[in-house]
Amino acid sequence: MSKGRKNQISIKNKFSIIFFVSIMCFCYSNLLNAEPIQENLTTFKGKHFVVQIEGDQKSFGQEVLREAERFYDIISVSLGCPVKNTWMWEGRCEIFVYANKESYLKHSEAPAWSNAFSSYLPKKVIRGYSESKTFLTSELPHEISHLLFRELVGAENPNVPLWLDEGIAVFHEAGQRGGVFERLLQERAPEGRAISLDELCGMGRGMARTSWSSPDASSALAFYAYSYSFVKFLVEQSGQAQFAKFLREFTQGRDVKEALGRNYRHSFRDLEDLEREWNHSIRVARAI
Ligand SMILES: [Zn+2]
Repeated sequence: MSKGRKNQISIKNKFSIIFFVSIMCFCYSNLLNAEPIQENLTTFKGKHFVVQIEGDQKSFGQEVLREAERFYDIISVSLGCPVKNTWMWEGRCEIFVYANKESYLKHSEAPAWSNAFSSYLPKKVIRGYSESKTFLTSELPHEISHLLFRELVGAENPNVPLWLDEGIAVFHEAGQRGGVFERLLQERAPEGRAISLDELCGMGRGMARTSWSSPDASSALAFYAYSYSFVKFLVEQSGQAQFAKFLREFTQGRDVKEALGRNYRHSFRDLEDLEREWNHSIRVARAI
């Protein structure tokens, strides 16, 4: 991505750093597995999740469990996850819901800019806090999507680009972030700036290096916006079933260009054609 000033996405106040957190969930999975030692947790057990909620929030805990199970059903079908029992009994995902951000940071050792995170190894865990107004609509489905996707393609699969992981997670959110990301790219489209798949992969590598300590707001926002946009474009082009087929290519050891070629060649002449149409779709969306 160019460093030129005119190519920078401007950050408006409403797009504060808080807006694009709950990210970088897996890069740090090995750093964040310390179990919180707490006595004021109430437990709610479901088929695929165990919710541990802090303080006197029983009704919210039940709502978290209900929503988590609902998102699990929706996202596992959407991604084409095979039916397994790895999310049941001892394999259930634990969701720790702290009362506020202070408690979340204290018990999770998560970076201060985050609102939630998930880890896959050695077991599936999601951590967040109930004071976040978007926990149920954004953070919860976002993190469940990461866990299901990682289980599908392999937790340590080196062929999976970060943009695909994050794009899928934002795509499955029920909140407003996807729409905001789209408007952000549409505002930028008249500049004629196009982006390639290689650039998007490069942005992801940059994020992985820098985001833990201090994410750069502009580049992080652009990365999430383009990642979401590309995933949405692929799904809209050939449908969810074809997209799920594309994802399964990663289980066969293929990289992203091979996977795209094998699943989207009927719609596009080559990768350049696919990139051109994707960029065109961003500009067209603005004109509507
Ligand atoms: Zn994420």
